[in-house]
Amino acid sequence: MLDLLFVLLVVALPAALAFAVWRRGRGGARPAGRTWRAVGLCLLATLPLSAAVLRGLVRSRTTQLGGELVSRVETGQKVVALTFDDGPHPEPADEVLGLLQREGVRATFFVTGKALTRHPQLGRRLVEEGHVLANHSFSHARMVFRSRAWMEEELARTDARIREAGHQGPIPFRAPFGKHLLGLSAVLANEGRLHVMWDVAPDEDASAEDITRSVLENARPGSIILLHPWTRERAATRAALPAVLAGLRARGLTPVTLPELLALRGG
Ligand SMILES: [Zn+2]
Repeated sequence: MLDLLFVLLVVALPAALAFAVWRRGRGGARPAGRTWRAVGLCLLATLPLSAAVLRGLVRSRTTQLGGELVSRVETGQKVVALTFDDGPHPEPADEVLGLLQREGVRATFFVTGKALTRHPQLGRRLVEEGHVLANHSFSHARMVFRSRAWMEEELARTDARIREAGHQGPIPFRAPFGKHLLGLSAVLANEGRLHVMWDVAPDEDASAEDITRSVLENARPGSIILLHPWTRERAATRAALPAVLAGLRARGLTPVTLPELLALRGG
């Protein structure tokens, strides 16, 4: 439980210290007592800051406490990676995959082991159509404050389903909800596994037009674009896809798979 230890260190320890110092101030003689109380209050005042730092670390797309994290690739080449999270699900498969096939676009699908277990044929179809599979955990539960063994199992079970679908090569990972802390970083670092975030993610509760506008305004060479095309609630995302692909092309940005984009790192 590395995450718990980390939180105790960052938040609970200063709080306990603040309380102890303040108590000492209460019992002591003036003016020393006043000084102790002031020190205690100062320590207490750092707590919101500790909590904000902690929250920022858990949600960070660019910083991780160990291991390697990437949210975009610095490159002069006019390419972007489309990454589709969650699923796969059969219902919208023809709409999503049919469009990509017609447009000659290959994408990277961060799938869950659970969905892939339910729809193994869909996993094989994704690989056969030239797309790349990546690991988005087995159950899509938050991977903070979890045991190391639990996290390793989430990764391994999903890897197995991805391999069964025919995927070859390294399997990148993206944490469910993009949430991570020390424990997950340690597991990823131990496995030498790249953690892939994103630098473009529109508000997918918006209209198809707004989703399209947001992607096209923010995408630039080396961008990793995050979209959720699978669920019933994300009809707007699916409706936006044709205009997103056309708009990227109009800006001279060619979608490539994540391994193709990552190969440009340092180049
Ligand atoms: Zn997800």
